Amino acid sequence: MDIKPTVLIIEDEDAICNFISAILTSNQYQVVKAKTGKEGLSLFTSHVPDIVLLDLGLPDIDGTEILRQIREWSKTPVIVVSARGHEREKVSALDLGADDYIVKPFGTSELLARIRTAMRHSLQSAGTNASGEERVTIGELEIDYDKRTVSRAGERIHLTPIEYKILVLLSQNAGKVLTHDFIIREVWGVYTDESHTLRVNMANIRRKIEANPGAPKYILTEMGVGYRMVEEPVEK
Ligand code: CA
Repeated sequence: MDIKPTVLIIEDEDAICNFISAILTSNQYQVVKAKTGKEGLSLFTSHVPDIVLLDLGLPDIDGTEILRQIREWSKTPVIVVSARGHEREKVSALDLGADDYIVKPFGTSELLARIRTAMRHSLQSAGTNASGEERVTIGELEIDYDKRTVSRAGERIHLTPIEYKILVLLSQNAGKVLTHDFIIREVWGVYTDESHTLRVNMANIRRKIEANPGAPKYILTEMGVGYRMVEEPVEK
């Protein structure tokens, strides 16, 4: 890598900030650190980072407010660093335009994977090749957007139109968590409370695409938040 990507860490806890920073520095990233929201916004403007890791609990400005300000004019990927159990906070951050979240405590490989995914998605949406992907393959699962077919290990899977829409949406955002509200808005158009319908559809999709729907390999549940389609099937 010739030009190292710059990561802005906005995090007031020294231990976490230093932990993240050490991982990133040893993995060919350049790191800029801010301990307050105000400093974070100012470094965001001066350094134009490639990605932001944002703690929501900051001493001066609420993390969601920082996200809102960044999203007023920038599409730079933002990964929220959140405490365990704050589901509502994570959902509102995602709805405000965060690309992903990671829950403390997290491991090195999880952090690096999330950063790579968020950066890849932002490059794709920047439209380097107008995203003319005709099909996607994840493990044994193949979705052909052109022919509108889905198969697993070569065997055709029959989905309803809504199931297909959900699967396409998740696969086009593989690696990213999509909130319940986001999926419902994208698939059903307007927001009505379709969360029960979504759950039912998801159960049907899993029954059709997963070898063992109780231990899904392709679509993971993010408790209280939404669903995430994997980029590589979970082995186990
Ligand atoms: Ca904090």
